[in-house]
Amino acid sequence: MGDAECIARTAKIIAQAAKENPCVVVVSAMSGVTNRLIEAAKIAEMGNAGDALAVLNELRKQHQAAISSLIPDDKKGARLRERVEEVLAEGCRLCGGTALLRELTPRTLDAISSLGERLSAPLVAAAIEELGVRSEAIEATEVIVTDAYHGGAEPRMGLTREKSQARVKPLLEKGTVPVVTGFIGATADGQLTTLGRGGSDYSATILGAALDADEVIIWTDVDGVLTADPRLVPEARTIPVISYREAAELAYFGAKVLHPKTLNPVVQAKIPVWIRNSFTPEKAGTKITPEGRSIGGGVKALTAIRDVTLISVGGPGIVGLPDVVGRTFSTTAEVRANVLLISQSSSQNDICFIVATADAQKTVEALRKEFAQDLAHHKVEHITTDPNIAIVAVVGENMRGTPGIAGKTFSALGRDGVNLIAIAQGSSESNISFVIEEKAVKTALITTHREFGLGAAQG
Ligand code: ASP
Ligand code: MG
Repeated sequence: MGDAECIARTAKIIAQAAKENPCVVVVSAMSGVTNRLIEAAKIAEMGNAGDALAVLNELRKQHQAAISSLIPDDKKGARLRERVEEVLAEGCRLCGGTALLRELTPRTLDAISSLGERLSAPLVAAAIEELGVRSEAIEATEVIVTDAYHGGAEPRMGLTREKSQARVKPLLEKGTVPVVTGFIGATADGQLTTLGRGGSDYSATILGAALDADEVIIWTDVDGVLTADPRLVPEARTIPVISYREAAELAYFGAKVLHPKTLNPVVQAKIPVWIRNSFTPEKAGTKITPEGRSIGGGVKALTAIRDVTLISVGGPGIVGLPDVVGRTFSTTAEVRANVLLISQSSSQNDICFIVATADAQKTVEALRKEFAQDLAHHKVEHITTDPNIAIVAVVGENMRGTPGIAGKTFSALGRDGVNLIAIAQGSSESNISFVIEEKAVKTALITTHREFGLGAAQG
């Protein structure tokens, strides 16, 4: 939600839907707000309370302006303004405390970064009421129970189910639309947590599963899941139906539409998830279902991940070291670096894997420490990094058992002069990934997209 106009549009979609079926709304912060809050937290950590409070002040203006344009009634507006002040006052105390201690714990960062959703939910609820539909904002700390892993908490579904049903069902029975803060949860003893950046989608599927929803609709600013990034591939198209597995592969590989964990909660109950564009609600978007739908050729979509770094651990000496693989990946786990792709040739001279560039430095430092002895004795000859690479993934569930897809992909790339650095295919066969130079991404995507006819209408 960018501004008041976006909120008004959102409210209209909700009010319309609520007239047809009971629905629960999950909201994210207004755009840019979470980034600003994290910035304020970091500024406070450096001891600069004044600048942190100045950021909060800008957020105050942004939300007050939205209230003025959405809620003409002074009395209702005043109540909402008061709520905004309460939430921001909490933000001021949190930033003040952080600045005083010059320490930002993960728990405090969660408390600060969650303020955006706590500001937007009452606003959206009020905007819905403006349209004559009863609505109430709910803090997700009351309904989503998580573990205590701050910054990336995992839901505890049993408890979440109990709490959300008890809190939300009575509202639905009264015809009131609950508006729940996305991104946020709380531990069983009430400590606020967040689900990770972009986590509102995840909140929506968690609640969808906990409340036995018929479907979950994620309203965003793109037309659904596309065959490729349209900024790079002009012929890219919206995919009408896609399977959980395909969507998860795409999410995992950086297609920005979904938080990677979004589909986990709904898989068991087989609840379909829609991705739709709130700017063009007349379009159907993409439906994510347990099976998806097969299309000719098996390939559904392409995706590229940039901002990744290739790390290689190797040298002829590692052939005889039986535990290099184990030690390498316990090290990446220790520093919590998410490994996106692994490739090892059968000669075992070299293990190469890919992590987000943001994680590369700490990973390499930890590896150099882990293998210090072996490096000194030349058993491990090198630990090197290459940040100028990207991963391209070719995704499609029906690629399984369809021979020739890798062949077709790689000969097309060869023809267009794209050099392959590493290749990986999981045994699920729903994804072939390859590593190329970053500057070749556009060519690789366009070539592969054309090779598999992804721009043509899909049945
Ligand atoms: N506001 C949170 C974020 O920006 C969650 C979300 O937008 O989904 O990460
Ligand atoms: Mg977001």
